[in-house]
Amino acid sequence: MNQPRSKAELFGAMGLGPVWELRNSTTAPSKTAVREAASLSELRQTVSICTACSLCESRTQTVFSDGVEHAPLMVVGEAPGADEDAMGLPFVGRAGVLLDKMLHAVGASRQKNVYIANVLKCRPPANRNPEAGEIRQCSPYLFQQIAANQPKILLLVGRFAIQTLLNTDKPVGELRGKLHHVTIEGLSIPAVVTYHPAYLLRRPGEKAKAWDDLLLLKQHQSVL
Ligand code: SF4
Repeated sequence: MNQPRSKAELFGAMGLGPVWELRNSTTAPSKTAVREAASLSELRQTVSICTACSLCESRTQTVFSDGVEHAPLMVVGEAPGADEDAMGLPFVGRAGVLLDKMLHAVGASRQKNVYIANVLKCRPPANRNPEAGEIRQCSPYLFQQIAANQPKILLLVGRFAIQTLLNTDKPVGELRGKLHHVTIEGLSIPAVVTYHPAYLLRRPGEKAKAWDDLLLLKQHQSVL
């Protein structure tokens, strides 16, 4: 799939109205004291047999990641849904298709330059929201994934990813529109926040805000 080049193509990719030109700039993470992280393959193996919370009882399989290891952009979502649980990959249903379109609109894809993971590695039953205890148990895996990948920038989608990594209880609407930083293992990584694609499917009127967030992402990462 080719990257859209004209404004009209970008509109089509996002299903949006008018857009404006980008100004490129780069924000690199300050790698001050990066500790040796567990290798991603070791971590994947550990997660695959994890029984640290009750979600292990209802999962078909764990969902660790998709995309390119050590990619410059890392997307963090919430938790596997039914499709993800069945396939063992994050963002493979309708929300995944929309995420791919959003990434494509800024020249990114999981085949080329994006690594994707969720806060929870197992599906909550009936797609309910993650519980605080589950996030507490599972999020250290995510922190290790981030430390091992060392992405140049993070895109946090949805409130559970945002609130977990920014350590806040503020709503997405209050946090979007500016660059944040996530500090893990001494690594300070710029982070853009936006709505979860599943939310955008329910509320298509919010897609314009998500497009603004993608422009912010693009402004801060010229390698995409
Ligand atoms: S959700 Fe996370 S902590 Fe809970 S069983 Fe799955 S991998 Fe382990």
